[in-house]
Amino acid sequence: MEKIHKPLIFDLHSHSCYSDGELQPTQLVTRASQAGVNVLALTDHDTTAGLHEAQQAAQQTGITLISGVEISTDWKKHEIHIIGLNIDADCAALQAQLAAQLARRSERALTIAARLQQLGIADAYAGARQFAGSELIARPHFAKFLVMNGHAKDISAAFRKFLGRGKPAHVPAAWPTIVEAVAWIKQAGGQAILAHPARYRLTAAKLRILLQTFKEAGGVGLEVITGYYKPSEVALMADLGEEFNLLASQGSDFHGDSLSKVRLGVLAALPAKCRPVWYDWGMERLAQCENDEKTISC
Ligand code: AMP
Ligand code: MN
Ligand code: MN
Ligand code: MN
Repeated sequence: MEKIHKPLIFDLHSHSCYSDGELQPTQLVTRASQAGVNVLALTDHDTTAGLHEAQQAAQQTGITLISGVEISTDWKKHEIHIIGLNIDADCAALQAQLAAQLARRSERALTIAARLQQLGIADAYAGARQFAGSELIARPHFAKFLVMNGHAKDISAAFRKFLGRGKPAHVPAAWPTIVEAVAWIKQAGGQAILAHPARYRLTAAKLRILLQTFKEAGGVGLEVITGYYKPSEVALMADLGEEFNLLASQGSDFHGDSLSKVRLGVLAALPAKCRPVWYDWGMERLAQCENDEKTISC
């Protein structure tokens, strides 16, 4: 008698068209299932609107869907993203705050469009809206509009020329603090995870101050692996997770084929020293048995 357990594949960071992703939640879940993902978190920017559909699709495909969100915050003029995992999307307090985030986004979008207008690019607000899959508007929608109209050769160039930090159409939104965003996630019963810490281009000293702030706010984990990490960054994040006693998360941050080179579920392994964020989720019961000729029972 032999049991062969396949390790579960966790992808705890992904986007649908309810924020700046390209796929409908059902398409996203189907793709994840085809990619062999067992546990997927949908973590749209500042909205939970796609979760209901994603949950239904997950039931059809046998994937476990974790209810998530990725909240934009401001910390010392850096846009820091805080992921909430296992949130209760029906939490009224969380929804009230997400409604405020939506309003901040709309207000920022009008200002971005006004800046673009000053640069001679007309009708950007309506143009960006055409690419939005819901009421929520995000910079990649502007980037697509700029590419479509020949103002940038690709999405990345649109950020480099216009939308990125310090560029002429960059408009800082009035995002909440890290302390506020973590509190909302906790109110909704979720775990707060610092998203893609290496992407903020902070010095090691400043990254430690960020982690201290996040930890004191009640944050419980950091993303050690995302689709864009270099091996040296993985090692650093694993060390910092140990130093600050934070759990380790992993996710592709998949947005769709034209926006991401990353693929769902294709992630490096967490270093052995990491304590995964899912260690107490009771996932063992989901562990799959792989039958082969030698297997008598699972
Ligand atoms: P927003 O939340 O509206 O500020 O838009 C931020 C989103 O834009 C991020 O979540 C990424 O999906 C995308 N993004 C940010 N910077 C870049 C970049 N340099 N190139 C391509 N996409 C980017
Ligand atoms: Mn995004
Ligand atoms: Mn992010
Ligand atoms: Mn993301």
